Amino acid sequence: MKFERPVATGSVPAEEVVPLYVSQPLLPDPTALNEYISKIWASKYVTNHGPLSLELEDRLAAFLRVPTARLFNNATIGLLVALKLFDLPPGSEVITTPMTFAATAHSIAWNNLRPVFVDIRKADLTIDPEAVELAISPRTSAILAVHVYGCICDHDALQRLADLHGLKLIYDAAHAFGAYWNGRPVASLGDASVFSFHATKLFNTLEGGLITTNKVEDRESIYLLRNFGIKNEEEVVAVGINGKMNELQAAIGLLNLDIFEIEREKRSRLRQRYREILSGLDGVLLQEAAENTTQSEQYLLVRIDRTRSRLDRDQVKERLAERKIFARKYFYPICTDYEPYRNMPIISKRARPYAQIAKEQVLCLPLHSAVTEAHLDLIAEVFREC
Ligand SMILES: *Cc1c(COP(=O)(O)O)cnc(C)c1O
Repeated sequence: MKFERPVATGSVPAEEVVPLYVSQPLLPDPTALNEYISKIWASKYVTNHGPLSLELEDRLAAFLRVPTARLFNNATIGLLVALKLFDLPPGSEVITTPMTFAATAHSIAWNNLRPVFVDIRKADLTIDPEAVELAISPRTSAILAVHVYGCICDHDALQRLADLHGLKLIYDAAHAFGAYWNGRPVASLGDASVFSFHATKLFNTLEGGLITTNKVEDRESIYLLRNFGIKNEEEVVAVGINGKMNELQAAIGLLNLDIFEIEREKRSRLRQRYREILSGLDGVLLQEAAENTTQSEQYLLVRIDRTRSRLDRDQVKERLAERKIFARKYFYPICTDYEPYRNMPIISKRARPYAQIAKEQVLCLPLHSAVTEAHLDLIAEVFREC
């Protein structure tokens, strides 16, 4: 299909614009990284709880204001360990959201637990506490909620339900690094939180993850689970896994921790620009974060409501792609569309779960410092047609 360039004044020819992807990794200055590499090479200490990973853990614990912060090689292993930590009864049910990345549901299934999917709230697409309440049964052992798109869950309501029914409350905080809830970093909410430091995430170590909890005792048990259950040279005390982060990645983390706030602020300003361009357009819904929370600036989510717009979500995505702007359908399909979970219900107070409506509407637009005014002009053009 050939793209007919519109002749609006001030519009930028598509071929002059570099392809733009939904995310772009935040990378530190290579000279600074080279200094770290020289040190790592000289020490020969390249992994296994080396000094840089310990330093990064300490800095993250201070930044996130938690007593326990343990680094991982990725967030998926972090989620596996966070669920393992609480000795949930085998086969018991963990209530979660279908509007998330595959790793959330898979981490439940890999622990021989049963994911139970419940509906999401219309305002911010986080898990709906009323639907959670409907799904609680004698078999329920935990809630695994997701601060999806960096929108923070209704923690008060979820914690109340967890306390009332004796459930563990674990957060997949992969999108929420640097976000606050009532002035508290989200790392301290619930029984445990898991952050992703994958290259697509704002604060990243190329691949990486972090478990945080409010209990100092968890430091030792998470350490053991991360290190094959090896307590010392002669004792293996738990069924652990290899979740260690190496020193090169820890060095990238130390450097990125110094610059991520600058990138976050640029993204905040960009979000404001998107709001100016997109608000008030018929059928285009912008994401609303709850009042007592701050945005992590991980994703810029729009929803395109086909009943009120000329183009549907897929057509908008296509028209953006014709202009070399590659938006992503996060999250479509949703977990209940995946083969292992197909035909599992989404428990909801509505006749038709809102997640089924939202999945046809969601589109994440590029949110990072390489997005220029020229890109925004092109995006605005597409949305005006829409
Ligand atoms: C990125 C992501 C993960 C997995 O993170 P990895 O570090 O890639 O394992 C888990 N959950 C959500 C919601 C994510 O977006």
